[in-house]
Amino acid sequence: MNSKECMELADKTLMHTYNRYPIVWERGQGVYLYDIEGKEYLDFASGIAVFALGYDNKEYNEALKKQIDHIIHISNLYYSMPMAYAADKVTKASGMDKVFFTNSGTEAIEGAIKLAKRYYYDKTGSAEGEIIAMHHSFHGRSTGALAVTGTKKYRQPFGPLMPGISFAEFNHFESVKALITDKTCAIILEPVQGEGGIYPAEQKFLEQIRKLCNEKDIALIFDEIQCGMGRTGTMFACQDYHILPDIMTVAKALGCGVPVGAFLAKGKFADVLVPGDHGTTYGGNPLATAAVCVVFDLFEKEHILENVNQVSDYLWKTLEVVMEHHSDKIIAHRGKGLMQGLEFKEPVNEIIRKAQKEGLILISAGANVIRFVPPLIIQKKHVDTMAEKLEQCLIF
Ligand SMILES: *Cc1c(COP(=O)(O)O)cnc(C)c1O
Repeated sequence: MNSKECMELADKTLMHTYNRYPIVWERGQGVYLYDIEGKEYLDFASGIAVFALGYDNKEYNEALKKQIDHIIHISNLYYSMPMAYAADKVTKASGMDKVFFTNSGTEAIEGAIKLAKRYYYDKTGSAEGEIIAMHHSFHGRSTGALAVTGTKKYRQPFGPLMPGISFAEFNHFESVKALITDKTCAIILEPVQGEGGIYPAEQKFLEQIRKLCNEKDIALIFDEIQCGMGRTGTMFACQDYHILPDIMTVAKALGCGVPVGAFLAKGKFADVLVPGDHGTTYGGNPLATAAVCVVFDLFEKEHILENVNQVSDYLWKTLEVVMEHHSDKIIAHRGKGLMQGLEFKEPVNEIIRKAQKEGLILISAGANVIRFVPPLIIQKKHVDTMAEKLEQCLIF
């Protein structure tokens, strides 16, 4: 079957929820992807900030093969070694006390919301806890996560969604404060907004929110699904700000390709959920948590954070130059670590399609922002190649 036949077969029966690009992938190697016709592409998207370790990492592959030969699934009615190790690793790395494994980011958000509501219910006896979220946030597509996602067009057709949600301006403390009521049980935000256009939180903003949550006994939820797992140069973005949330969500690079997410909680929030409150059939199964274990091991062994810190400065400088060359088209450069964005005056979809022809994979974050989220093993020479190819696409 060639690309065209594959796409025709898929489009016949796959729901049309994505306008897919006309590429059929076959395999990956390091920071390169290959389509079924054998064309090579430099990958600056990592399957949307997932494949941090790069493709075809032998140790990662071996660990998963070994686990498959032992056991893939057992359910949460029992224990397994990978689950125990993974829980230990992710809590230690994040500074949180307890974890619940999910199968995706959106499910991690659902769990975080339930935890915050349950805490409020235990405290007040009222099941009317309300949540403050941010404009331009993205927290997922299930109905709870959608209710706290700050892009109206994603929410609009699917109401009525979970009530009691209000939206504040990101990096504008007074707008958050103005929304606080006696019923506010949680504030949820991404320390670096991803899909909304790559906006890092300001230090002061997070400090003020942390203080407010302490004073009012409100759960502070950090969604680190995209910005966590080394992406910004610390294991979790909040560590760069020296501010810990009460509840944290993680997914994307947590399993580096095996679908797994988690929500974590600290201090008085750690033991709020009790038997019967929450569950999942697959969540934290041996295959998923074996992936989590080997990912944490390889982050250390391959000095991933050091690499992010080295290469991210280089990426920053390189993109500054690209912006200078094309100041007629590019209006802003934002980000942290290996999570950066260039904002254009016009929608970027054409540039992304051109880049694909040049053998470069880019993704957008909102209509006008190109998002740079390469595998975390990227090197300076790859940044140079990316910039050359990108400049080719900008001459028009
Ligand atoms: C991707 C993403 C989600 C949703 O994760 P899924 O695994 O797609 O459900 C939630 N929050 C943020 C910040 C994300 O980037």
